[in-house]
Amino acid sequence: MSSDSQEDFDVMFGLKTVLCQIEGAVARRSKDLPQIAPRLVAVSKIKPVPLIIQAYEAGQRHFGENYVNELAEKAHNTDIQEKCKDIKWHFIGNLQSNKINKLLGSPGLFAVETIDSVKLADAVNKQWAKYRKDEGDRMKVMVQVNTSGEEAKNGVEPKDAVALYEHVLKNCTNLELLGLMTIGQYGYDVSQGPNPDFVSLAKCRQEVCENLKLDINKVELSMGMSTDFEHAIELGATTVRVGTNIFGVRPPKSK
Ligand SMILES: *Cc1c(COP(=O)(O)O)cnc(C)c1O
Repeated sequence: MSSDSQEDFDVMFGLKTVLCQIEGAVARRSKDLPQIAPRLVAVSKIKPVPLIIQAYEAGQRHFGENYVNELAEKAHNTDIQEKCKDIKWHFIGNLQSNKINKLLGSPGLFAVETIDSVKLADAVNKQWAKYRKDEGDRMKVMVQVNTSGEEAKNGVEPKDAVALYEHVLKNCTNLELLGLMTIGQYGYDVSQGPNPDFVSLAKCRQEVCENLKLDINKVELSMGMSTDFEHAIELGATTVRVGTNIFGVRPPKSK
């Protein structure tokens, strides 16, 4: 059965390899960039629970999902709850307002990386009051920027990043801003020079920090996936989201 062959992928090897590559990229990174140890988010979308548990048992803690239903289902899974008590879920997909409650009610939710409008920020800010453990418990979020300008990608335009960042900082007291996130264009050829989408996100950070008087070390950049996470780290990524290189290729979508 195809689900069995998926479970045969050597997650331990995939994870170790990626962690080594991250270390290598950190060593090559410019000393002018914030010297933050990048956080690896293992993107487990479409992958079965046993593979997540394998990665967890190999030491991985941060996992990413981009469908609310799938994240909620996995977060509530009894095996995950039993064996992965310290799991940290990142939501990295498009968040529809009718799914906010389901997402925020998921145990172990660590961050919502895809806040891309004032409306969405306000809605998450408001709903989180129902789920937080106490008044000081803020939901971590990132502002998603559409650096590639593709219509199919979500996110604010780079020129609007400062305004949304400022809105969340000033008005969304239940939210804790971690930084900026982008997906960017797929398949960029690195031999052409630095990926312009990653450069653009780094520039957004510069503008956010200058305009809002923030310390650059406190504004994260979530960028880079299986094909380009090392390059992203060299350009300042502090969070990379890697799926395929850890869990193997995903079967074609059939939902
Ligand atoms: C699927 C996905 C990833 C991981 O992609 P891989 O190429 O499998 O590493 C990263 N970020 C987002 C937003 C995704 O949807």
